[in-house]
Amino acid sequence: MSDADAGRTMVDIKAVHKSFGTLEVLRGIDLEVRTGEVTVVLGPSGSGKSTLLRTINHLEKVDSGWISVDGSLVGYRRDNRATARRASGKGGGGGRAGKLYELSEREVLKQRTQIGFVFQNFNLFPHLTVLENIAEAPVSALKRPRKDALDRARRLLDRVGLADKAGAYPKQLSGGQQQRVAIARALALEPKLLLFDEPTSALDPELVGEVLDVIKDLALQGTTMIVVTHEIGFAREVADTVVFMDEGRIVEQGAPGDVLDAPRHDRTKAFLSKVL
Ligand code: ADP
Ligand code: MG
Repeated sequence: MSDADAGRTMVDIKAVHKSFGTLEVLRGIDLEVRTGEVTVVLGPSGSGKSTLLRTINHLEKVDSGWISVDGSLVGYRRDNRATARRASGKGGGGGRAGKLYELSEREVLKQRTQIGFVFQNFNLFPHLTVLENIAEAPVSALKRPRKDALDRARRLLDRVGLADKAGAYPKQLSGGQQQRVAIARALALEPKLLLFDEPTSALDPELVGEVLDVIKDLALQGTTMIVVTHEIGFAREVADTVVFMDEGRIVEQGAPGDVLDAPRHDRTKAFLSKVL
C-alpha cells in the first residue's frame, strides 16, 4: 500500500440483508473499512459474523444492499449498455448510474483472488507440501510461472517464520504452524484485503500467540484486514475499529478504547463481561 492509498475506502457495505430460508441472518449491515486499517468483528455465536465475511468475497450472495471492494461491486458489474441483460432483483445500488449485471462464475473467481480468506480450520491441501500449498493458487489462478510462485512462496514462508518447513506436509505441522501457512497462502495472491474468520479458535491456547503475532505484523505493514475473533487483547492492541454484532445487526462500533472499555449498549456489555 502506498501512503496515498491510506484512508481511502477499501470495503463499503451498504444496507446488506441476507436470509437463509426464513432466518434473517444479516438485518441491514452498513460498514466501511478504510485502506490500511484493521477492523475486528466481535459478537456471540450465530450473530452473523461468518456470513458477513462470506458475503464480502461472494461466497454468499446478498439478498439486498450492496458491497464494494476497492471501488468494484462484489459479484456485479455496472454497465450502461442498454442491450446487456439485467440482473434480477438488483438495481440502483449505490445511487450511481448504470444497471447491475451479475458477474459470471469466472469473473467472480477472478474477483475473489483479490480478497484473501483465512478460515478457522486452516483448510490446507493435505496432499501438497507447505510450499506447494502456497504456490498453487498463483500458478493455477494467476498463471504465474511456477518458479516465480515457488520463490515467492519461500519468501512468504520466511515471513511467517516457517522457512524450515517448506517440504513438510500439513499433518506434520502443529495447528499454529498450519494456520501460519494458511496466512502465507492467502498472501500469495497479493490480495487487497484479508478476511480472517476466527483464525485462532481451533488452536490450543499455547499456539494462539504465534498466529496473532503474524496477523499483528501484517497490520503494522498496513494490510487491510477484517478479523472475526474473540481475542479481546488482540482487538485492543491491533484494531483501528471494533465492531460488535448481535442478531444480524451491528449494535455498536468505534475505537477499541470506546467499544471495549466504555460500551454503550447492554448487549455489548453482557458479551464483553463473558469474554473478558
Ligand atoms: P457467527 O459466525 O456469528 O457464529 P453465522 O454467520 O455463522 O454466525 O451464522 C448466523 C446464523 O445463520 C446461524 O443461525 C447459522 O446457523 C445460520 N446459517 C449460517 N449459514 C447457513 C446456511 N448456509 N444455511 C442455513 N443457515 C445458515
Ligand atoms: Mg462464525
